[in-house]
Amino acid sequence: MFDKLTLIGIGLIGASLALKARQAGLARRIVAATRRQETADTANRLGLVDECGTDLAAACVDADLVIICTPVGACGEATRIIAPSLKPGAILSEVGSVKQAVIRDMRPHVPKGVHFVPAHPIAGTEHSGPEAGFPELFEGRWAIVTPLPDVDRAAADTVAEFWRRCGSMVEFMAPDWHDKVLGIVSHLPHLIAYTIVGTADDMAGERRSEVIKFAAGGFRDFTRIAASDPTMWRDVFLNNREAVLEILGRFQEDLFYLQRAIRWGEGDKLFELFSRTRAIRRALLDMKQA
Ligand code: NAP
Repeated sequence: MFDKLTLIGIGLIGASLALKARQAGLARRIVAATRRQETADTANRLGLVDECGTDLAAACVDADLVIICTPVGACGEATRIIAPSLKPGAILSEVGSVKQAVIRDMRPHVPKGVHFVPAHPIAGTEHSGPEAGFPELFEGRWAIVTPLPDVDRAAADTVAEFWRRCGSMVEFMAPDWHDKVLGIVSHLPHLIAYTIVGTADDMAGERRSEVIKFAAGGFRDFTRIAASDPTMWRDVFLNNREAVLEILGRFQEDLFYLQRAIRWGEGDKLFELFSRTRAIRRALLDMKQA
């Protein structure tokens, strides 16, 4: 699809994209650039790309597609740095878990003649860094493309096709709707997991060791989510503030409803909710998304 693909940031997502793009033959040359020399050395040692350095701008010279794979909070500054190196007609994309704030930070730096097409693969693990990458990460997962109204349609279709060839199913969405949907299905669950594991850790003395020792299914599943990268998730909450606060308000109301049902012994209310939620899990299994 491309002569040269450049990845800015080579952690879980960047490394997985590099491996998949090479495996599927999506670019003749794949290069990367990252902030720390240590990370670039690891990427080179693992042979993830043809070349990885720390000069973000140099890596983008002559690139047909540049994808920023840094934490959300670094996307704007990275775009400012690489902007002078982007050739006319190049496509600039990114993979951030939040769309409106990333678009707000990147858009002012995008040079005229460069096609800016934000996207977000709904695929990940709790691991981070270049060693966490694997080419099957995007297989059978959704990739959401959030083109801006004034974007060149062909460029948006090219980004969609790139994700399809990475194994994903593609959906187009407006950035504000993306942030609301992801606020519910991804950001809130992470916030709850961080809270539960934090509460357990705050328990004093012996009770804490009991929690760790007897951690059963429920708590153990939360610890996996709560092990997700602190930088990435700090940036997600700071940059999707409105949507997360809105959904958190709604969630608190629903929690009070359950609290009240437990207090007053209203088993029918608990049973009704637990039956509805079980059906959602079954629907996910049917769609092969669980
Ligand atoms: P990651 O494993 O922590 O990797 C982040 C990469 O960005 C590292 O190579 C890091 O390199 C680099 N980086 C950090 N700050 C930088 C800067 N200022 N300039 C240049 N490079 C910088 O994170 P990830 O999981 O791949 O996530 C990357 C993006 O994908 C995030 O925006 C996240 O929201 C999104 N995303 C993540 C998931 C997920 O589940 N993990 C899923 C979908 C989308 P250094 O070590 O050199 O700093």
